[in-house]
Amino acid sequence: MYYYTHMDIAPKGPQAARLRQRKFQRLRQFPIPPDLLPGSLSLTHRRCGQPTCHCAADKKGHPVWSLTFMAGGKKRVERIPPEWVEEVQHRVEAGREFKEAVAEVFAANAQLLALWRKQQGR
Ligand SMILES: [Zn+2]
Repeated sequence: MYYYTHMDIAPKGPQAARLRQRKFQRLRQFPIPPDLLPGSLSLTHRRCGQPTCHCAADKKGHPVWSLTFMAGGKKRVERIPPEWVEEVQHRVEAGREFKEAVAEVFAANAQLLALWRKQQGR
């Protein structure tokens, strides 16, 4: 079932104007990004186990990049091939910015609601 209640939240004043301006600035900035990634990218080092490999004598071992993220309520770690790291890093950073933008829009909406209620004296 679909229904829509139109609620015209339109508080006035400089704080409301600021919140609204920020909100639409953010909305323009982020339409619907299709390729963003969650989580964080990290670098660890691991020995491969080959006795003849240079890493057997190294302190660190081979660099291994991983993307750690939540999916279906579970923490997952995915190895990222070195040649993908730059692109994945971009997408993770963009994903973080997007989440922050969404949170800011939601918070602005809630603050606008609060201002509107106060201004309406309800
Ligand atoms: Zn090795």
